Amino acid sequence: MTSRFENRIREETLPPFLKRYFSQSFCPDEMPPAKLAEFQKEALQEVVSRAYNNSPFYRQKMIQKGVKPEDIKNVSDLAKLPFTTKDELRRDPWTLLACDKEDVSLIHVSTGTTGGKPIYTMHTWKEYYLHHRIIYPRLYPVTQDDICFVALPYEMSSAGLSLHNKFMTGHQAAVVPVGKGGAYSTPEKTVKLMADLKPTIITTSPSYAITLAEAAAEISLDLTSLPLKKMWLAGEGCSPAFRKRLEKIWGTSVRFSFGTTESSIIGVECEAQNGYHLALGNVLVEVVDPRTGKVLEPGETGEIVLTCLLRFDIPLLRYRTQDIGCFDPKPCSCGLHLQRLHLRGRMVDQIILKGKGYSPYYLENFLMQLPEVGNWYQFVVKPGNNEKLKIRCEVAAGVGPSSELAAKLAAGMETSAGVPCEFELVEKLQRTNQKAVRVVHE
Ligand SMILES: [Zn+2]
Repeated sequence: MTSRFENRIREETLPPFLKRYFSQSFCPDEMPPAKLAEFQKEALQEVVSRAYNNSPFYRQKMIQKGVKPEDIKNVSDLAKLPFTTKDELRRDPWTLLACDKEDVSLIHVSTGTTGGKPIYTMHTWKEYYLHHRIIYPRLYPVTQDDICFVALPYEMSSAGLSLHNKFMTGHQAAVVPVGKGGAYSTPEKTVKLMADLKPTIITTSPSYAITLAEAAAEISLDLTSLPLKKMWLAGEGCSPAFRKRLEKIWGTSVRFSFGTTESSIIGVECEAQNGYHLALGNVLVEVVDPRTGKVLEPGETGEIVLTCLLRFDIPLLRYRTQDIGCFDPKPCSCGLHLQRLHLRGRMVDQIILKGKGYSPYYLENFLMQLPEVGNWYQFVVKPGNNEKLKIRCEVAAGVGPSSELAAKLAAGMETSAGVPCEFELVEKLQRTNQKAVRVVHE
């Protein structure tokens, strides 16, 4: 008799067309574009069909919009489908189920940095198993020789666990689940483990990379002496200038990755560090006008909308992320065919200065180019329009704070970023193991 566990991941219970794509693993970044497009079409049709037939939520939405599964003949028909909003997911934890409740094996939650009711993301074993086995060797060049430190949260969100499983099961690497400041996981302990185990890969958030560097300095661990090949950043936005600081501190190449708890991995940078190559085996991405919902042309900036391709039991169609971005229609210098996306921050995080909206990471990029500014800062704004941007920050090591320096930094920011600023130089901002708060409303 097969166990409940075995039954749930038996390959014959997967949608039949998947067998043509998944053997030992499935590597969309190494597939010919035409084959990947064929996979996307088949996966989308399967997901939509299951959503319509098995999920009362999606069936009702599709009937309201006058669309049936047979209307989705190609990926280009995606825009015929209804959107899914965060508010809809907040109403009932089990809303999206197109399977029996007893088939759910894992539940993650995102509460977001803006508060509000939680959004639960559920997986069946089958879906989760597929997520481990889909890998992107060109985007994540991780092999069985690697020792990967996963310094991302393992609690609540999927951030730590999903990369953990991908590296361990998909890439066959050794994984150390150091987490990010949880009950057993202090920055001090993590850097001691680094000194012992000599990681080759680390994945963490931009602010926690600084927290770990500060802990390493305490025990005189020279991070540049570690055999690190790559650092991937996730969980928080980050500017190119902040990345440069991290590359210097850690002595390794630092790349951005982008995902959500609801959809797992969405995009990862290549060595060109110029936008996210999309994980197009997992997800279809659209950019729409946030007001009208109209699909925008490549190069136009709008809200990022996701449709998950490997979620057959608990589908997610045209999910409005409230993240802002645009496609880059130009081919990438790395030669990889996967489409590229540039992120422009989140709609809720935009700082309004003199009537114009700015992403905090656009402003951070100028701030982090000022050598006298330390690695911790806050943009202090009031809701709505601001005449001036107040920047509260630490100064770099060896720099003395003064009103002259504050005036000089304000003039520097105004020239480079083109926004009026004032600086409050402080000795130490509070460290956090949670998401760094870059925008403070006072
Ligand atoms: Zn590239």
